[in-house]
Amino acid sequence: MIWGKYWKERRFGIADMPEATVWLDMCKRVATRGTCPRLRVGCVIVKNDGNKFTASGNGSPHGTDSCDEVGCDLENSHCVRALHAEARALISSRFPLGGAVLYCTDFPCYACAKLIVEAGIVQVCVENDYKYGKKSKELFSQVGIAWTIQNPKYDL
Ligand SMILES: [Zn+2]
Ligand SMILES: [Zn+2]
Repeated sequence: MIWGKYWKERRFGIADMPEATVWLDMCKRVATRGTCPRLRVGCVIVKNDGNKFTASGNGSPHGTDSCDEVGCDLENSHCVRALHAEARALISSRFPLGGAVLYCTDFPCYACAKLIVEAGIVQVCVENDYKYGKKSKELFSQVGIAWTIQNPKYDL
């Protein structure tokens, strides 16, 4: 018996539901806890066929005011107050991330993409494309990280 397969069936219960759908659903739920009203993002990083996972929404660092409380902090029309969901998921993981798959509601920005590469993530699967994701896509392709977008919108 393959342990990973057993784990998957036990955890998800629905054998014919694609695994990515399950994790992206979780990303969407986690995203509702994000604290930047401009875009609420959810990220789940999965390892060992779902045996281990870590999840985070975007928001201000612990102990600091959130965008929901005091408004966004805009620089060049980007909010810089919120820590991105991917970055927060990466740094809050209790397990080593090498070989893990990263799921997210939205395609990672370039800053997060660099962290994802450095953490040893091998696959990125997201729901929504990101207007400024070109450099992230090029970076992932350069190091062999497979990336998929459920709703592709922008050309590479
Ligand atoms: Zn904000
Ligand atoms: Zn980011």
